[in-house]
Amino acid sequence: MAKRQTPALEGAVMTADGLSYKGVIMEPVVEKCDGCERIVTIEEKNFCPSYAQPERKWAHGVCNFATHVRATVDSEGKTKVNPLKASKRAARGR
Ligand code: SF4
Repeated sequence: MAKRQTPALEGAVMTADGLSYKGVIMEPVVEKCDGCERIVTIEEKNFCPSYAQPERKWAHGVCNFATHVRATVDSEGKTKVNPLKASKRAARGR
């Protein structure tokens, strides 16, 4: 039997102020989150179980919890965002 995982954002409720989870209002994910496996859809909106404010998470660079991109710093010290497509190829086994 599959290992039971706690469903992300379990018990979250939609309120007039937005999605409330454990007393925190969760803000919807931002465009940059697109493709991240952590996204949870509740009532047709996408939320991040890791961050209540995904926009703030991206404001200072790349979200370090993102599953779809990873930041690297190039030789000039600039941050580059790399889509994580290689991982899929590796999983398939060349
Ligand atoms: S983990 Fe980061 S990239 Fe993924 S949904 Fe949350 S804020 Fe967005």
